[in-house]
Amino acid sequence: MTLSEYKMFINGLWVDAQNGARFDSLNPANGEPWASFPHAQEADVNAAVDAAQKAFENPAWRNLHATARGKLLRKLGDLIATKQTQLAQLETNDNGKLIRETKGQIGYMPEFFYYYAGQADKLEGQTLPLDKTDMFAYTTHEPLGVVAAIIPWNSPMYLTAVKLAPALAAGNTVVLKPSEHASATILELMHLVQKAGFPDGVVNVVTGLGVDTGSALTKHPLVRRIAFTGGGEGAKSVIKNSAENLAQVSLELGGKSPNIIFEDADIGSAVNGVIAGIFAASGQSCVAGSRLLVQDTVYDEFLTALKTRAASIIIGDPLDPTSEMGPMATQTQLTLVERMVATAIAQGAELIHGGKRAAVAGDGWYFEPTILAVNDNQCSIMQEEVFGPVASIMRFKDEAEALALANDTEFGLAAGIWTRDNARVHRMSKAVQAGIIWVNTYRAVSPMGAIGGYKASGYGRESGIDGVKDYTQLKTVWINTSSEPMADPFVMR
Ligand code: NDP
Repeated sequence: MTLSEYKMFINGLWVDAQNGARFDSLNPANGEPWASFPHAQEADVNAAVDAAQKAFENPAWRNLHATARGKLLRKLGDLIATKQTQLAQLETNDNGKLIRETKGQIGYMPEFFYYYAGQADKLEGQTLPLDKTDMFAYTTHEPLGVVAAIIPWNSPMYLTAVKLAPALAAGNTVVLKPSEHASATILELMHLVQKAGFPDGVVNVVTGLGVDTGSALTKHPLVRRIAFTGGGEGAKSVIKNSAENLAQVSLELGGKSPNIIFEDADIGSAVNGVIAGIFAASGQSCVAGSRLLVQDTVYDEFLTALKTRAASIIIGDPLDPTSEMGPMATQTQLTLVERMVATAIAQGAELIHGGKRAAVAGDGWYFEPTILAVNDNQCSIMQEEVFGPVASIMRFKDEAEALALANDTEFGLAAGIWTRDNARVHRMSKAVQAGIIWVNTYRAVSPMGAIGGYKASGYGRESGIDGVKDYTQLKTVWINTSSEPMADPFVMR
């Protein structure tokens, strides 16, 4: 099979790694290599960061006024919209995510560029009501410089948009490092960045592995800001690297998000929300609602309905629009899911549905939608992120117990609450320790809604009105308005 041979994008040029190193990406639907990418080494990372630094200092970008930056972002959004189908097919090939999901996500992606395009020239500072009569002071939001954006494999385009759009709106330059398992769409996006008219070096992509390419990037002395989405181990390494360059860091990590179903919930609606929360994207989502907490009185009814719906899920080729669940993105992920399910069963979890590789033609990495009933919140399947289509379900008696179970986790990214009781909605929304609360819905996203976690789910927020400010630094300017000269500091008055 002939592999598609990609090049990296540095300073507006399509280049190989200086030493010629490459790596292959495998198609999760059949396990075969389909594309090869340059494996960037330290010298290539240095070239990309130098290009981004020069672009940051270049008047063509530095002096471009904010409204013009906004227009470039809007143009990029328009261009992405014209390539929705092509980009979606590419992403599905690369990470195995269903075409209906990649099409939906990429179709919505322009909205992030439009939203931050609008924010570019609304980054207003303040005049300060000072406690000094002969002084005037104001603040401005200034860009930070070179941003290193580290992107995982599960939603590369979406997770690029939430970093790239605000970073550029604020006037920074960017070096993107996609996952070794899903680099193709990010490189394809660079054709659109070029076409939109961004000056060379403003956006660059280095492809490679986290341990070397990603590490060289996040410790580079000229990097001023790191936006990382991924797992806890990578995050710890990034934090250590940022001790070298003192770059500001935001971390979007994983979760073990509870979906809490009360007895007064619309059960049909809750089943749909739970299915969307854990089986969409084959569970490979940071916000996956992987812990189901269901009130005793409706537990049996809910579980029967959930099992029936799970059994009808069509698992198949992610490029087939009728498929409802695709493969795991990597073989490692498939093996991990298998191992975690086996461990849970060994610890006493009851297998309600699924639990094994799915029989789909070919050598793809498919796993069945899986439901495990547990009665101990300390069971590993209730505490550890699976990042696969595995829901664990547990009963609770009352609201107090639901809350205690929901918060009994090291994570705190998202939570779903299913109830018709408005007062309970407010009590629970306040008390659940998570960055995102969805009430009678799940997985809703918007450029206006911030995403980010409590506790081990990371820090910093992406999207939302303040997202762009996280890519700026505040400057305070003091002006002496007195008609008198400044007094000699060593003469007492
Ligand atoms: P990783 O943390 O391994 O990878 C995420 C990104 O970081 C990839 O680009 C990876 O490169 C890179 N990376 C890995 N190690 C380093 C390092 N030392 N320095 C710099 N960059 C590094 O996560 P996975 O890809 O394994 O994704 C799985 C986990 O990520 C999940 O279990 C989940 O917890 C979390 N996740 C969270 C998301 C969120 O939005 N909060 C979204 C997706 C995943 P490479 O892939 O080339 O190794």
